[in-house]
Amino acid sequence: MTSKELFSRAKKVIPGGVNSPVRAFNGVGGDPVYMVSGKGSRMTTADGATLLDFCGSWGPLILGHARAEVVEAICKAACEGTSFGTNTPREVEFAELLCSMIPSMKMVRLMSSGTEATMTALRLARGYTGRRKIVKFDGCYHGHADYLLVAAGSGLLTGGITSSAGVSPAAAAEVLVPPYNDLAALNELIRTQGDEIAAIIVEPIAANMGLVPPAPGFLAGLRDAADRCGALLIFDEVITGFRMGPGSYGMLAGVTPDLTCLGKIVGGGLPIGAVGGREDVMSKLAPLGPVYQAGTLSGNPVAVASGIATLNLLRKENPYPEMERRCRTLAEGVNALARTLGVPMHCAAKGSLFTPYFCPHAVNSLADAKRCDTKAHAAFFHAMLDRGIYLPPSQFEVGFVSAAHSDSDIQIFLRAAADALKSG
Ligand SMILES: *Cc1c(COP(=O)(O)O)cnc(C)c1O
Repeated sequence: MTSKELFSRAKKVIPGGVNSPVRAFNGVGGDPVYMVSGKGSRMTTADGATLLDFCGSWGPLILGHARAEVVEAICKAACEGTSFGTNTPREVEFAELLCSMIPSMKMVRLMSSGTEATMTALRLARGYTGRRKIVKFDGCYHGHADYLLVAAGSGLLTGGITSSAGVSPAAAAEVLVPPYNDLAALNELIRTQGDEIAAIIVEPIAANMGLVPPAPGFLAGLRDAADRCGALLIFDEVITGFRMGPGSYGMLAGVTPDLTCLGKIVGGGLPIGAVGGREDVMSKLAPLGPVYQAGTLSGNPVAVASGIATLNLLRKENPYPEMERRCRTLAEGVNALARTLGVPMHCAAKGSLFTPYFCPHAVNSLADAKRCDTKAHAAFFHAMLDRGIYLPPSQFEVGFVSAAHSDSDIQIFLRAAADALKSG
């Protein structure tokens, strides 16, 4: 069965043929590719092609596909029983591991997705502060809960507009949406509505509008703003947690949030989410406190086994300096090609994250990202795919270098990019 045949079958029984919209290739055109297996830095399509994977399942696969120790831990746990609906020893070990690797997490609650983590963090912030409003930054993605599918409208001071049908306008009205990296806009909101704000939530490195690192002082400015108005500061580290080092990005940036949300990497490729932080805040969660949160498969023993194996390998092998060096080689290589060939594009990079932007200007906000040539990006995506390189199928995403990528994988990427940019 080819990708084309599978997609036409899928479209009859799954809306748009996909179980998550970005998989539909709407950002780049054409039909999506079906994967049947993966090993290390490569995956194999239903059509028999082998692709070098720079999407990494959108972040979780920091150790590459089917890393032996992780698969072994998953199989062992599954053989012992996939779910009990009771407490299990592994979830205790995992929670201890998370709290030891991220010291600002005095307590942590496990769940099954990043969306649940951010949703819970916001409910917790509201329950703790007794306030209603939330500040989120334009272009940051925090999962698909109602409050978080909100974009900045012109009426910034009166709340955002929904970026999805079916979201309650009342929920959207409680969300204030300043631009990313814009402390002046945030401080104006704090000045006028600070005493109504329950939480400021942010991706400490924005990675869902393309890669947008925080400007110097931005994260410290958020800490200061939250303290001044009595709101909680929430770092959504679903992508950045354990991506830039064996802990949170907040630790590396020297800014301590009240709550941290995790997902992706900490599940090692299985569904997981977690929220943790200050003990007095976490103690508001049921059954200790009045803020309700629950889950049939929360702390699932198989997902937790995968997470433990992944975090232990990251701690033991510390692949971060090498991933960062390889990602820098990739980005500098693309930038050199762009200069030589006179293509108005550049590749942004931080740690093992990168985004090829088809514009000459630096991208520091969603507005900057929107001024890039997404048609040129789509052509590049397909030219790379034709040459065996799988990138995230949208300009408004980040690429991932994993610990399984070798120096020669990076050279293969750059040869393909040279060819793709020349032909485009
Ligand atoms: C992926 C992501 C989420 C949502 O996680 P899911 O597991 O897809 O629900 C939340 N926040 C950020 C920053 C993410 O990248």
